[in-house]
Amino acid sequence: MKHGNVAVFIQQHNGKIENVSLELLGKALDIAHELKTNVSAYLPCEKAGDMPKILFSYGADNVYIIENAELKEIISIPYAKAVVEAVKKDAPGIVLFGATRAGRDIAPRVASSMKSGLTADCTELKIGPYTDNKTGKTYEQLLYQIRPAFGGNIIATIINPVRHPQMATVREGVMKMKTPDNSRKGQIIPLTITLSPVDLSVKIINKIVKEKKVNLTGANIIVSGGMGVGSKENFDRIRELADIIGGEIGASRAAVDQGWVSKEHQVGQTGVTVRPKLYIACGISGSIQHKAGMDQSLKIIAINNNPEAPIFNFAHIKIVGDLNTVIPMMIEAYKKQDNK
Ligand SMILES: Cc1cc2nc3c(=O)[nH]c(=O)nc-3n(C[C@H](O)[C@H](O)[C@H](O)COP(=O)(O)OP(=O)(O)OC[C@H]3O[C@@H](n4cnc5c(N)ncnc54)[C@H](O)[C@@H]3O)c2cc1C
Repeated sequence: MKHGNVAVFIQQHNGKIENVSLELLGKALDIAHELKTNVSAYLPCEKAGDMPKILFSYGADNVYIIENAELKEIISIPYAKAVVEAVKKDAPGIVLFGATRAGRDIAPRVASSMKSGLTADCTELKIGPYTDNKTGKTYEQLLYQIRPAFGGNIIATIINPVRHPQMATVREGVMKMKTPDNSRKGQIIPLTITLSPVDLSVKIINKIVKEKKVNLTGANIIVSGGMGVGSKENFDRIRELADIIGGEIGASRAAVDQGWVSKEHQVGQTGVTVRPKLYIACGISGSIQHKAGMDQSLKIIAINNNPEAPIFNFAHIKIVGDLNTVIPMMIEAYKKQDNK
């Protein structure tokens, strides 16, 4: 039996596609190759412009465009209706959403409309078989929707064998964005939706855009501080090291909870998922919840005064020592190197 397409909900704002949608197209392409099927992109928007071309280059084979003046801003009901329309036309096997605020709002509405299941906040997706012990029935190619559960103490694999499409939201930054291939071409499928006054009962009357000051997901270097930093004042050491090597500041949840640094700096299961070229963890023990957000970093340097700290089990460079001594030494060495 041919597997339905692997579809991605495309989140955009004023014609700019969110990175998480492009990351998901790359993952959808890998899954589609395995299932010998195609990738669909569902694009509700006011005007599609050159977005379909970008979507093809990142992996889409079909772009379902739902253009409507009422889709300028992401509002739950009209957006969910647009995605449901695309799902009904495309009959996909799998639909993926970014676990953004919008994705977390729209995905359950679509799942409910399709009477299907949904796994929120996945950190991994795989294809594999499943045999139902009660009926003896084997499903050959199900989507394994993998995510931390029970406070991150276990990694759960969730499947949805009966109702389709299989649906998941996936955290931003978890899937690696592919390099765009501008020679890729695809098919554009325009769809229309009719929105009733009830569908449009929510109106945006004012919008206050707060500029994002911290960009952890796009950072090449992150210097993170944890409980071992010891105080708000001491967090300046982390800032100084980050400044001098051109990095962003990250933190463990424990440091955020202490009020040493704001929540937008938190890395981990309930913070941001990052994959920089260099991650320097200072006074961070390496709990499973912190690890979940940073272990895909290319190089991890850990500074910890406890040689048994779990972070040393997955750090590439291990520095056993007091961060109050080690960080100034690193700054000094970097300055010397810079002056050569
Ligand atoms: C549902 C749930 C979600 C969570 N989400 C997150 C999340 O997103 N991100 C996250 O980070 N945590 C998260 N946590 C919390 C997590 O379980 C840990 O409590 C937290 O990561 C610990 O932070 P830490 O490593 O800074 O502190 P600690 O575990 O207290 O570790 C401090 C480390 O600093 C070292 N140290 C002390 N003094 C020094 C010094 N002078 N020099 C060098 N090293 C020193 C110690 O040896 C120790 O290893 C979550 C927990 C739950 C239950």
